[in-house]
Amino acid sequence: MAIIVHKYGGTSMGSTERIKNVARRVAKWHAAGHQVVVVPSAMSGETNRLIGLAREISAIPDPRELDMIAATGEQASSGLLALALQAEGVDARSYAGWQVPIHTDSSFTKARITAIDDARIKADLDAGRVVVVTGFQGVDDQGNITTLGRGGSDTSAVAVAAALNAQECLIYTDVDGVYTTDPRVVAEARRLHVVSFEEMLEMASLGSKVLQIRSVEFAGKYRVPLRVLSSLTDPNIPLEQEMQSGTLITFEEDAQMESAIVSGIAFTRDEAKITLLAVPDRPGVAFSILGPVADANIDIDMIVQNQSVSGHTDFSFTVNRNDFAKVVKLMHDTIVPAVGAREMVADENVAKVSIVGIGMRSHAGIASLMFKTLADENINIQMISTSEIKTSVLIQDKYMELAVRALHKAFDLETAPT
Ligand code: ADP
Ligand code: ASP
Ligand code: MG
Repeated sequence: MAIIVHKYGGTSMGSTERIKNVARRVAKWHAAGHQVVVVPSAMSGETNRLIGLAREISAIPDPRELDMIAATGEQASSGLLALALQAEGVDARSYAGWQVPIHTDSSFTKARITAIDDARIKADLDAGRVVVVTGFQGVDDQGNITTLGRGGSDTSAVAVAAALNAQECLIYTDVDGVYTTDPRVVAEARRLHVVSFEEMLEMASLGSKVLQIRSVEFAGKYRVPLRVLSSLTDPNIPLEQEMQSGTLITFEEDAQMESAIVSGIAFTRDEAKITLLAVPDRPGVAFSILGPVADANIDIDMIVQNQSVSGHTDFSFTVNRNDFAKVVKLMHDTIVPAVGAREMVADENVAKVSIVGIGMRSHAGIASLMFKTLADENINIQMISTSEIKTSVLIQDKYMELAVRALHKAFDLETAPT
C-alpha cells in the first residue's frame, strides 16, 4: 500500500461531470489499496474570473486581498470533489491550505511553501479516507491566506507528495504528457515517454506551462517521482495501463530524452525588453542600471551590453511582462537620469524561444542550426542567451509561432530518435 498524490488541473475539474470522472478515477486507485491524496485546481476559468472581479474594483488590487479572493476557486473545487467521492462510496474529506496547514512565506500572489504539517492528512489516510487538499494556496505566519503564483497547484501537489514521502505524484492534465513542444502550437509535436529532470526544469523555466517551474524544483529537491498524464481518458482503464501512460520525469543522470540532441522547444510571451541607448560607459554601469531593479524584487532574465563606441554603450535587458510597467517607471524616473542614458526604448512585443536538450552539452553547432533556421525564415534575433543545455533567442512576438514550427522541423522533433 503506497501513498500516491494526484493533481487535477482546471480543465480536468472544468464541470461537475468532469469532477465526477475524477472521483471515479480516484475511487479506482483507492479500491486498489492505495492511500490517495488529491490536489485539485479551481475549475477552468475560475481563477481568471476572480482576478477579473478584483480588477473591476481596483486597477492595482491589494495583493493580500487578491489572494483572499483567488484562493476561493480551489476551495470550491475541493469541496465539490469530496462530495463526488462520497457519491462514489468513498470516505473523503477536503481541506483548505490553512487547515492542513500548508505554511508559506508572505509574498502574496507568489508565495513559497516553507513547511507542510502532515499530521491531519496522515490521520485521515490511516482512517481509510481519501484526502482532498486545495491546490495553489497556503497560509503565512500571521494567518493570512496566500497563493503560490499562476499554475501553483502543481507545486502544492509535489510539495504534499514530498511531505508525505509519497511513492509517486501524478499530474493529471488536459494533454497526455510532456511533448517536444506545446501541441497546441505544433500539431506534429511528439509526446515524450521520459524526460530528464534537468530538461524539464529548463523547459518549465523557459515557458512550457505544462508544469509550474517551482513544482519541478520541489521534485528535484525532494526526489519526488513525477508523471504527467491525461485526465481525459476513460477513468476505468486498468491501473497498470494508467501507471505506464504519460511522461515520466526521471532523475537518472544519463537518461537524456530518448537520446535526441535537442529534446524540446519552449516559448513565452511573458517577457518585455528595455533598452537604454548611449549610456556613458564606465565601471559599475551595469550595477547602476540593474541593482535598483533587483532591489525592487524584480527578476531580470536576459541581458546584453554592447561594445562601447566613443565611450558610450547600449544596454538591454528583459523582465517579466507583469513587472514591465514598474521597471519602465523606475528607469524613467531615476535610472535614466542617474546613468545619463540618451534615451530609453521599451518593447513589449517580444517573445523568447528556446531549444533545450542535454545532448547540447556534447554537440557543437546546435545553436548555429537554430540561428540558420531563423535566418531562413527572415526572423531577426534581438538577444541571445545560452547555458549548457539550452539556447534562447528573443524575437518579435508576431514571429514566435513561425519560429517554433520551423525549429521543430529543423531539429526533426516530430520523428522519434532511434
Ligand atoms: P492544468 O490546468 O492541468 O494545470 P495547464 O494548462 O497548466 O493545465 O498545462 C497544460 C497545457 O500545457 C497543455 O494544454 C498545453 O497546451 C501546454 N503545454 C505547453 N508546453 C507543453 C509541452 N511541452 N507539452 C505538453 N503540454 C504543453
Ligand atoms: N487555479 C490556479 C491558476 O489558475 C492554480 C492552478 O491552476 O494551478 O493559476
Ligand atoms: Mg497548470
